[in-house]
Amino acid sequence: MDGRRTRGDAEERLSSFRSRLDCESIMQGKVYIVGAGPGPADLLTVRAVSVVRAAQVVLHDDLVSAEVLGLCPASAQVINVGKRYGKRGSSQQEINALMVRHARLGRVVVRLKSGDPAVFGRLGEELDVLRQAEIAFEIVPGVTAAIAAAAAASVTLTDRRAASAVVVLTAHSSSEGPLRRPMLDLERATFAVYMPGPDYRKTARELMAMGIAASTPCSVVSNACRDGEEVRFMALADLESASGIAAPAVLIVGQVTNSEKFSESTLLLERGNEPVGNRTENPAYQ
Ligand code: SAH
Repeated sequence: MDGRRTRGDAEERLSSFRSRLDCESIMQGKVYIVGAGPGPADLLTVRAVSVVRAAQVVLHDDLVSAEVLGLCPASAQVINVGKRYGKRGSSQQEINALMVRHARLGRVVVRLKSGDPAVFGRLGEELDVLRQAEIAFEIVPGVTAAIAAAAAASVTLTDRRAASAVVVLTAHSSSEGPLRRPMLDLERATFAVYMPGPDYRKTARELMAMGIAASTPCSVVSNACRDGEEVRFMALADLESASGIAAPAVLIVGQVTNSEKFSESTLLLERGNEPVGNRTENPAYQ
């Protein structure tokens, strides 16, 4: 074996891919933890669409769009277990109990989380519960908000001319205190900050306290890749006084957001989410 892939290998991979798309490969009594992406249904993976279409019970977070929920079969029990910031929702224990109960009844359970389920999605706790209850699970990845936000802002998170690292962090931390200074070259790092609001002044100050220069360019992207998308470019210091930023938003900080095209201190791009062609023509949605 010289490690090269042959045409035969490709055919085998294609046929195993086709069988994975077959709904019969979706097992009962199993929990599928599925990334719903940033909003539009055509940003789901093909695997996610197959699994959602086969769901008997769907437990979803608030940020999962109506368009994605529209893919659930009419016969499925669809439960919003979301807990939006500051509002009462299901507790983690309630969500865990629902997953276990429905899986033990032999159902196809889909735990639908916005973006990628493993990025700030409490996936760790849910997997602990499933492992302990000996329930089979599968994780279906999704397009996470930072990647969607970078695409919306036409920013290259790892542009080699300006960055050699990407740091994904949250401004809302459950256990740790303020953000700590990372051991890396801050000048050549891109920071993708989830949950940066509603107190942008505090977030900006914490990032500067970490050692990021006040003049560092940044971009705040609200509703990335979905209706109401809004992209603003500014210096980190200007974020302290920024207002009217809609949620959900991701803050991207670093030289990669400093394109000459966006050299003015604040630029607001607003555009709707334009479908590419007709979604119903896409075989994944038929
Ligand atoms: N698992 C999700 C993140 C959940 S935490 C993912 O991988 O994307 C929720 C945070 O994600 C929000 O507060 C916001 O910071 C970000 N977010 C989710 N969807 C977004 C979107 N369409 N546009 C901008 N930010 C988004």
